[in-house]
Amino acid sequence: MIRTIHRAQFVLAEADFLLQDAAVHVCDPGRISRIEPWHGKPSGQDVRVIDWGKAIIMPGLVNSHTHLELTRLAGRIRQTTSFVDWLSQIVRERREWTPEHYAESVRAGAAMALRSGSTLVADISSSGLSRQALVPERIRKAVFEEAVALAPERADESVADVERRLQEAEPDPLTTLGVSPHAPYSVSPRLYRELAALARRRGIQLTTHVAETREELEFLESGTGAFVHFLGSLGAMPAGWAPPKLDPIPYLEVLGVLQQSPILVHCNYLDAHAMAVIQRTHSSVAFCPRSHAYFGHENHPVRQCLDLGVNVALGTDSLASNTSLSMLDEMRFLSRARKDLKCEEIFRMATLNGATALNLGRVLGRVRRGYWADLTVLRLPEEAGGRNLLAQILEGAGECIATIVKGEIAWQRDEHFSSSVTAA
Ligand SMILES: [Zn+2]
Repeated sequence: MIRTIHRAQFVLAEADFLLQDAAVHVCDPGRISRIEPWHGKPSGQDVRVIDWGKAIIMPGLVNSHTHLELTRLAGRIRQTTSFVDWLSQIVRERREWTPEHYAESVRAGAAMALRSGSTLVADISSSGLSRQALVPERIRKAVFEEAVALAPERADESVADVERRLQEAEPDPLTTLGVSPHAPYSVSPRLYRELAALARRRGIQLTTHVAETREELEFLESGTGAFVHFLGSLGAMPAGWAPPKLDPIPYLEVLGVLQQSPILVHCNYLDAHAMAVIQRTHSSVAFCPRSHAYFGHENHPVRQCLDLGVNVALGTDSLASNTSLSMLDEMRFLSRARKDLKCEEIFRMATLNGATALNLGRVLGRVRRGYWADLTVLRLPEEAGGRNLLAQILEGAGECIATIVKGEIAWQRDEHFSSSVTAA
């Protein structure tokens, strides 16, 4: 059995576990078999050593929320803090897209994610084309088939469409499947219930956008506001729609969606009760800091969520509301914006918490024996080191030079690193 040893000056196995001059051993079929101080190249015919030098090996970064199919919208959306204006622009832009546009966009986004250190992306597919487009990409992906329909009479057809997409999926070792009812202002109670039941039946994860804007809260409370006009303009506002008169999180609980411990995306507006419900139902929050800032939302309740023990993961959202798909950029932005978060917390949100949200926390998110060898390698500047290395990285030290998925180098910056490969 061939063993690969990745050696680097630092290995950050977990948020609070940094090794100096260490090696990560990877066995077939891509699992970590050992982490230990570097003792020099071992003897034996079946070992190859990749020495990354002045670098840090860390668990692969997990992007817990993105829409890769929107990658081609980069630079095409007029900056606005009005959420419905932004949504209207996206709807307009996409009217002319062909299936090939979607597929190209998804592949371009996957390449960007991989180049910036993400080894796993949770991707929302509204087109139904993402999963197939992503199969050749060497990044690990959780593809969530999205459904949108506020009219209850369209629920059956939407569920059938999602079921068909799930059934068409050939098993793929780097792909997991999920379902994504879009949001409480665009999904009927019936569709939410049926997709939650479908996810339970299939044992797959569910994710939904929720508590994103004040307008969403108003729409659910009183059936008024910006969403009524927006949905009306699309012909998607059902006659006789009655607001549940609930905040979004209690609403999802009543619908049975939280039994699933889903990934709740954004959660920009939560009160104490909502946070307690999220914690009690072991749901995860996918916080998208730069997208949150793009819309000028109020302070995100991430600190309170973490203090309550909620599993908070990080996502980039799409290039329609962000400037890159780099999780490192996301972590650095968050570190600058939120001095009440510890470096270790930010790191955990971008690794283990993301894996946990996707029900993969027992095999991904740490550099640990038995875990998949999904690793991100950052080259460090000469002066980097010491006890606050993670803080230095979040302040900007280090650039991604390689992304390893299931033991394979899925991307590397510079071919010269392959010349440091030495077969024993
Ligand atoms: Zn989203």
